[in-house]
Amino acid sequence: MYTFKGLLTENGWLENVFVKLDESGNISELKTVEKPEGEYVDGYVLPGFQNAHSHAFQYAMCGLAEYFEGSEVPDDFWSWRDAMYGIALSLSPGQMEDVAAMLYAEMLRNGYTSVAEFHYVHHDKDGKPYQNLSELGERLVSAAKRAGIRITLIPMFYQKGNFGTRPYDLQRRFISKTIEDYCQLLEASKQSIQFYDKANLAVGSHSLRAVQKEDLIESSLLSKDYPFHIHIAEQLKEIKDCVDFYGKRPAEWLLENCNVNEKFNLIHCTHLKDNEVEGIAKSGANIVLCPSTEGNLGDGRFRFKDYQNFGGNWSIGTDSQICVNPLEDLRLLDYGQRIHTHRRDTFFKPNLGDSGFNALKTAWKSGRNSMGFENENFFKVGESFDAVVMDAKAPLIETSSLKNLCNTIVYSSDSSHLSGTLVAGKWVVKNGKHENYENVRRGFVKSINEIKIR
Ligand SMILES: [Zn+2]
Repeated sequence: MYTFKGLLTENGWLENVFVKLDESGNISELKTVEKPEGEYVDGYVLPGFQNAHSHAFQYAMCGLAEYFEGSEVPDDFWSWRDAMYGIALSLSPGQMEDVAAMLYAEMLRNGYTSVAEFHYVHHDKDGKPYQNLSELGERLVSAAKRAGIRITLIPMFYQKGNFGTRPYDLQRRFISKTIEDYCQLLEASKQSIQFYDKANLAVGSHSLRAVQKEDLIESSLLSKDYPFHIHIAEQLKEIKDCVDFYGKRPAEWLLENCNVNEKFNLIHCTHLKDNEVEGIAKSGANIVLCPSTEGNLGDGRFRFKDYQNFGGNWSIGTDSQICVNPLEDLRLLDYGQRIHTHRRDTFFKPNLGDSGFNALKTAWKSGRNSMGFENENFFKVGESFDAVVMDAKAPLIETSSLKNLCNTIVYSSDSSHLSGTLVAGKWVVKNGKHENYENVRRGFVKSINEIKIR
């Protein structure tokens, strides 16, 4: 039982809110009270942030691909990708788990309570399947359990090196040769989530370049039962390769060949033409934007305003993990648009909400959908209490009116203003400290030192 100074609903802030939980951490009662009952928390509660796109192993290489020494040619996305493949090839299952556990603990510290793990490193270092086909997926679920975050494991279908080409040796840990192989991986993945009650499953194909036409179409039919995730239209070279091979741009091809619907989660969509913007928005699909990664890799700028004009759904993801702070990513998304449009209305909806609230709500709702949950309300009786608490004594928060509080949080807070994170009603991070921090940190440092990459 808790009483919070404030709690955000879809209709604004409530003050002095009592929240009672059952033994599973689901809300059994939620009401405003005169006198606090249970643990009093001097903080403002937001629904936990939803991280709709993550590759956990890439956390091991954060900050390592910014180096010029020994190189005459400038770095680009594709040289970054080679460095990333180096990391993918070097991690043992135990090391994969240690890296992911640290990352997930950091996500929680920054207010994420759920992560969609777009997982494509499946085999051993020689490219041989493990006895348990989902060995590494299971390690990711285990990492999520150690950290206490909810995870949607998304085993990825990855088949080709590029459009119509065989896989490169560097990609040997990723490959399912056929759709049957992928379905076997999916079956094994179903077992891998059984031991953690905060894990579920989604499906996906890595990208148009990584899976051949018929198989990609077939894999997308799995969206009948699961959320379907795919990278699309991130890099200009990828657009060109796709046009050369299919005679179509990636998003155009997808819209023409697959039944793109609200179960589809399209990662990036950086480079879209008018008809693609409209087609995706009208399909009800969710676009997952990863502003820090897209900025770090020099991908380009998403046509946010045009997409919003059609009422398109969007959420955010940490992707390469270069930033795991959702507030920072929301700001970067907004400011990238403002710099380009010379306007301050990125998250504007006529007569509805404000920038901070609209950003929080849309990212949350579409993020929930990307993981297979269709919540309408931030907090509802019968549903799990997953929340992030902002410190009511942080100076700008303490002096903000409720009317301005969402904007104060989104536009002027950093992670030091988060006082804690709760998953299923329990503090996982309190006063800025993760409950299992030392254990997780030691495992991470040991594993990173073993692989000698930093
Ligand atoms: Zn990605």
